[in-house]
Amino acid sequence: MLAPATRKIEVPLVEVFSSLQGEGIMIGCRQIFVRFAGCNLACDYCDTQFHEELIFNVETEPGSKQFMTLENPANLNELKHVILDWQCRCNNVHQSVSLTGGEPLLHADKLKVWLPEILPILPIYLETNGTLPDELRDILPLVSMISMDIKLHSTSGTDTAWDLHANFMALGAEKLCQVKLVVDASTTAEELIRAGKLVSQYAPGCPLILQPRTLASGLSLDGRSLLELQKIAGSAHHDIRVIPQIHHWLGVC
Ligand code: SF4
Repeated sequence: MLAPATRKIEVPLVEVFSSLQGEGIMIGCRQIFVRFAGCNLACDYCDTQFHEELIFNVETEPGSKQFMTLENPANLNELKHVILDWQCRCNNVHQSVSLTGGEPLLHADKLKVWLPEILPILPIYLETNGTLPDELRDILPLVSMISMDIKLHSTSGTDTAWDLHANFMALGAEKLCQVKLVVDASTTAEELIRAGKLVSQYAPGCPLILQPRTLASGLSLDGRSLLELQKIAGSAHHDIRVIPQIHHWLGVC
């Protein structure tokens, strides 16, 4: 009797690579990054290539920064074998598979089918802008950790989706490992306090990360300014951490 055919799972990707997590409390952890195409926001400071193209990039060797191109949409069934191979060849050094974007939750219907295949290999780390709670509900049992951003109007230029963030956090609180804010000189005290109160209410054990915006010339804020922002946010939440991005400094992807 023939074995049932495996359903092909296809999703547009941008790139797949192995590198260090460069943001927040997981800094330094080796992850396999799967960058999904598409985003529901349009942040002013976005420097991520997330638009869907005819092709996507996959590292030829994990961590090599050498890429080959494949046609979109990607076949996630085949990608599972790449992940398994990389994890074996790298002495199990990877801590998790990072679903990043763009906004990976735009593909929740496909993730729901694919993630049960990946979970036996590595835990799933979801990087999200925290504005799609309905989509999160669909895959929440399959996600191990969630890193959520709140895009502040001051820095991102987009209207902050406070109500959606509240719904998202209420739903995912148990798996939230951090909430991040990109901050710069335009960030207001009102925004910091509102974000701090939100975390305090819905995920009280979760750290709120202030991530200074990275410019070509360096960080957008000096240490003294960051201490001041930390103090302000600290009036609303007990665990405020200042953590800059590090991947630019290390020269990794
Ligand atoms: S949510 Fe992230 S990927 Fe989307 S536009 Fe904003 S910074 Fe870029």
